[in-house]
Amino acid sequence: MSEKPRILTGDTPTGQLHLGHWVGSLENRVALQDSYECYFLIANMHAFTTRVDKPDEIRRSTLEIVKDWIACGIDPERSTFVLQTEIPAIAELTWYLAMLLPFNRVMRNPTLKTELEDKGLGDNYSFGFPMYSVGQCADILIFRPKLVPVGEDQLAHIEPCREVARRFNQLYCGVDPHTEDADYEKAGGLFPIPEGKVGRVARLVGTDGKLKMSKSLNNAIFLTDEFKQIKKKLSGLYTGRVAMDEPGDINNSLFQYVRAFIRDEARVAELERRYAAGDNIGDGHIKVEVAEAIDALLAPMRERRAELAGEKGDEKVLEILREHTKKANAAAEETLYRAKQAMRLDFGRRELVFP
Ligand code: ATP
Ligand code: MG
Repeated sequence: MSEKPRILTGDTPTGQLHLGHWVGSLENRVALQDSYECYFLIANMHAFTTRVDKPDEIRRSTLEIVKDWIACGIDPERSTFVLQTEIPAIAELTWYLAMLLPFNRVMRNPTLKTELEDKGLGDNYSFGFPMYSVGQCADILIFRPKLVPVGEDQLAHIEPCREVARRFNQLYCGVDPHTEDADYEKAGGLFPIPEGKVGRVARLVGTDGKLKMSKSLNNAIFLTDEFKQIKKKLSGLYTGRVAMDEPGDINNSLFQYVRAFIRDEARVAELERRYAAGDNIGDGHIKVEVAEAIDALLAPMRERRAELAGEKGDEKVLEILREHTKKANAAAEETLYRAKQAMRLDFGRRELVFP
């Protein structure tokens, strides 16, 4: 067993990964790979919350996301990939945790509300949709991580996870409610109280210039996009600017991209100064410069991804997933066993066989 503290985070296979994922979470994952024992989850069960009618797409996206991970530098030799549907302990723990979360608390989650709005779901969502937020508590807690690297939108999901972890520890492990969050395990609790870690850019705006960049909102620059596509998508970015010789707002969506992707600080400062002063620098020009910076970031990713192209690449990914499912199940089964012991569901230890 590794002595390193753990990380758990993940993505829903509702499409391919994009720049929002990179700055919000992927970059941190790559950076923390050596100092933490990392578990990265593909939430393929949760993908069904919004697309019950698209099983083929979900399966395709599941493989594509793993390819994106490897392409952006997540190393399957050092990190463990968790295929949600093949880890039964997660679904079981979801049930137990659902009992510890008030219904109104789940429905009050601001991210859930925003998602319903952005995805135009209205009142027309399944019972499973809000359930995914309870499921996410189980996704996290089953691996007992200290840290959860996520975008800002997901912090609202980590809060109930922290609440439910405290409650479980108090109810079933006899931890005193006055215990500091950092001391729950020391005090006999099964679950650490995990902390969210937001990336360099908390919430990258999409190429519509309004909503969060999102796989399912048609406003994303994907990690696989080529220079031409990047340029085209950015050209549509709304900035609200009237003329080149009028002062521009350096807090607009374009400048969020400038600061996120142009890594030369002196150049960023110069662009900010000239834009704010209305010093004859056009949106179009800056957009091309941003596109070039993004292209430079994505080029090595595209190269690594090409090595996993086609059916051969699919086979390789499936092989990795099968191997990793065994590792992930070992860790998850251990936690579930201990959780059930604590709940007096101590009727013996099962053995899970995954071929
Ligand atoms: P969906 O539209 O299906 O919800 P998504 O694009 O929002 O997809 P998720 O799979 O929900 O992606 O999110 C995966 C991780 O990436 C989460 O930690 C989330 O906070 C982060 N993330 C997603 N979009 C952004 C963004 N635009 N800026 C920063 N972080 C983001
Ligand atoms: Mg999302």
